[in-house]
Amino acid sequence: MSKQVYTFGGYLKDKFGEKVYKAPISISGFTCPNIDGTVARGGGCTFCENDSFSPSLGEVQELKGFHLNLESTENPHLEKQLLQVEKQFEVIASKSKREYGAKKFLAYFQSFTNTYAPFDTLKALYDKALSLDDVIGLSIGTRSDCVTDETLAYLAELNKTKEIWIEFGIQSIYDETLERINRGHDADNVKQLIIKSKKLGLNVCGHLIFGLPGEDKKMMLETAKKAYEWGIDSVKYHPLYVTKRTALANEYNKGEFEPISEELYLEVLLESIQMKPEHVSVQRITAGIDNDSLIAPDWCRDRNAQVRHINRELRTIGLKY
Ligand code: SF4
Repeated sequence: MSKQVYTFGGYLKDKFGEKVYKAPISISGFTCPNIDGTVARGGGCTFCENDSFSPSLGEVQELKGFHLNLESTENPHLEKQLLQVEKQFEVIASKSKREYGAKKFLAYFQSFTNTYAPFDTLKALYDKALSLDDVIGLSIGTRSDCVTDETLAYLAELNKTKEIWIEFGIQSIYDETLERINRGHDADNVKQLIIKSKKLGLNVCGHLIFGLPGEDKKMMLETAKKAYEWGIDSVKYHPLYVTKRTALANEYNKGEFEPISEELYLEVLLESIQMKPEHVSVQRITAGIDNDSLIAPDWCRDRNAQVRHINRELRTIGLKY
């Protein structure tokens, strides 16, 4: 019989005795220092089309065009943002309760860079999410170059009584790759923040992308190996796909970038899972987008087929997802 890959869901169930759901929240007014030009020119990572992460969550009309940043001292829109946390959570939680009988949630600050705001704003938003019924913790998606010591210390404090996760995009350990995708920080920056977060007792999830421009299988596997060594507790694996309105789309159209094949992705994924320390949970094994914005590769369109193919390969090594 195939052995189950250790999933994030499995980790949460073991810890809390029942299934815990991640409720994605997307706060208007947040951006990313790589999009607003603070850390790099060029409008962000070459593959980034941030609306594609969660188009259904929408923006609050009055907050359009308003962006917070770390230099701000005031936030005139805080009340609206707090309401947004409440409303978005309510919609997602009630659906999950109705459809799956969900009882416990992690509030997942997902879109853009969720530590890129004045500390008082962040504290208010995190506290608000944690005050909602059935929320047992947070998961905060961010960049490693964008977390102040003050914020990290606060999250560590919260982690004493709640389940607090911080998610960093590692993507690659190769600086030449990070430059090529206009990441705006180097690999050492991520390494140091992961180590620092772990020293404070925080739970860390690392995002890895396979198929980045210029990378071969050996490099992708080396990235996975190093990410485990740096101490991540959980991992999200993604294939790089090209969507419209991105710099990567231009590279692809000019023939300067060739997306990873499904065969190679499966090989790298399997080997990454095999070398993963047992305690590192898996939150995501693939990614894709099933709408008009996907340009290539076509195999990233059908997530069910991807998971089927992944499971077919996993079974050959006695595993399942
Ligand atoms: S760090 Fe994230 S939000 Fe910012 S540009 Fe890169 S992919 Fe987009």
